[in-house]
Amino acid sequence: MTGVSETDLQHRRDIVAACRQMTALGINQGTSGNISVRVEGGLFVTPSGRAYDEMEPEDIVFMRWDGSWDATPGNVPSSEWRFHLDILRAKPEVNAVVHAHPTYCTILAILNRPIPAIHYMIAVGGGNDIPCAPYAQYGTSELSDAAVAALTERRACLLAHHGLIATGPHLRKALWLAVEVETLARQYHGCLQIGEPPLLPDAEIDSILERWGQYGLRDRPAIEAA
Ligand code: 13P
Ligand code: ZN
Repeated sequence: MTGVSETDLQHRRDIVAACRQMTALGINQGTSGNISVRVEGGLFVTPSGRAYDEMEPEDIVFMRWDGSWDATPGNVPSSEWRFHLDILRAKPEVNAVVHAHPTYCTILAILNRPIPAIHYMIAVGGGNDIPCAPYAQYGTSELSDAAVAALTERRACLLAHHGLIATGPHLRKALWLAVEVETLARQYHGCLQIGEPPLLPDAEIDSILERWGQYGLRDRPAIEAA
């Protein structure tokens, strides 16, 4: 691409690679899901309705904070651009947002069930649960408002009858979190086949969060490197 900085091009490449990884990891399929990354003056967001294996770096849309955007012909911003923009605006510590429809997260979201503290790794979301935002139609400001509210004290949330949002200080970490939350959802789903699982007390989750430190997971280099 001409007239594009090397940093911007790298962001675009990273987004395309992360999209393809979502498919490879089994947390998305077809054209579902979308990704954004904070950049100078706004965000890069995936184009709407494009199959990930056909997506190229130049297809990624640049959006300014006022919602205006630049795209190559044939591309428009993801239908979920509102929640990407609103989350990045509301949470300065977040630099990347991943949205997907992973099967087990979506099963729980259909049942409007937050993931409770079944496992100490629940703390990856920043608290004692992964909340579920109430249903609103895809692409609406109602959905965006519900997502921003659910993420107030969390790094990830379910979207009722829809899927998952995971955030991070960078794209790799947001993608890693999406996979962790899908793992928790699978574990919770498995428990529910047998009965209601016992939960860890809030004090235990607080203690885990304290051990990981306010910048998160510092004593878990394997996770940091993910
Ligand atoms: P887009 O293809 O417009 O990003 O929509 C996919 C999706 O998951 C909508 O919620
Ligand atoms: Zn979706």
